[in-house]
Amino acid sequence: MKKVLGIDIGGTKIRMGVVNETGEVLEDITIPTKLPLYPYLEEQVLKVIEKFPDLKGIGIGTRGMVDAKTGVVTFEKELEGWEGTPVKAQLEAATGLRVEINNDANCAALTEVRLGAALGFQRVVCLTVGTKLGGGLVFDEQVINGTHGGAGEVGHMILYPNGLVCGCGRRGCSEEYVSGTALRRMIQEENVVNPKTGELAIPQELFRLAAEGLTSAQTVRDRFLSDFAVVISTLQAVLDMDCVVVGGGVSESADDWWENLLAKVEPLKLKPLELRRAAFGNEAGMIGAAMLVTDPSNNS
Ligand SMILES: [Zn+2]
Repeated sequence: MKKVLGIDIGGTKIRMGVVNETGEVLEDITIPTKLPLYPYLEEQVLKVIEKFPDLKGIGIGTRGMVDAKTGVVTFEKELEGWEGTPVKAQLEAATGLRVEINNDANCAALTEVRLGAALGFQRVVCLTVGTKLGGGLVFDEQVINGTHGGAGEVGHMILYPNGLVCGCGRRGCSEEYVSGTALRRMIQEENVVNPKTGELAIPQELFRLAAEGLTSAQTVRDRFLSDFAVVISTLQAVLDMDCVVVGGGVSESADDWWENLLAKVEPLKLKPLELRRAAFGNEAGMIGAAMLVTDPSNNS
């Protein structure tokens, strides 16, 4: 069976997996992100190829924006030196293998559509609520990239004009309100203290404290979910998707807030819409990256 190397490039870690056509991970390697990423990445890839000489290609999902056709990273401010790197051309030259690259959230979306929570849906929006808010769009089997690789940048839809300053340099972007970082900020603002420890709550316990009746935690939860519901509703107005998949680190506590989110979205729906929790965890990016190569519909 065809084996492909899937690589998920994050801010602190790079996850590399040897993945077969059915999405099964045969080897799973995590290494620290080191800058500059090139030629570091190439060295690491060559090591894997030594061990798996029968690899048929390399798929990469990375932070930032990517021109999937040319395989160049078009926008990424935090991984210094990565923006502008012609990753596809350089890695293809170094390995002799086909290389495909796309945004990490798009890769995660592909995994959910092909193998996970959105299986059988045609127009899917995947939202990754982690440190930031990421989005991936897969419509009719195709990842939607946009002109500059910037489609699906849901976290940078402006939710509050003149609001908080975002990492992109503008104000009021949704990821300043709907993300783990936003939860941390609101926990401080509302002084959400865990009654058991007497310390400021961490985002991972916020929703449980809210479910247990802590008023300050409920305030944060309700504000967070109201904003999240608006984001979903706005996306529906533009895209009329049939399914939204919610994943990312914050969704690990979704047992404590999923019903609340559905209740907030319900009155804002324009059309029927299925909301699902992601079936995959943070391996989704790596598996989806591999699928950029194994997927017969991706001929770019
Ligand atoms: Zn922004």
